[in-house]
Amino acid sequence: MPTYEFLCLKCQKEFTVTMTIRERGEKQPACPTCGSTDLESLFSGVVTKTSRKS
Ligand SMILES: [Zn+2]
Repeated sequence: MPTYEFLCLKCQKEFTVTMTIRERGEKQPACPTCGSTDLESLFSGVVTKTSRKS
């Protein structure tokens, strides 16, 4: 199962949720810390970090 990474916009905590692609489309994950669904999804796995400082 793929792992999805989220950032809670309420408490600014990152957490990961493992669920199927289907679940991802059907469910709205909630922050395990505060229960908020105000999340920003981060991409785990294939992370393309552009840390160029030019
Ligand atoms: Zn939270």
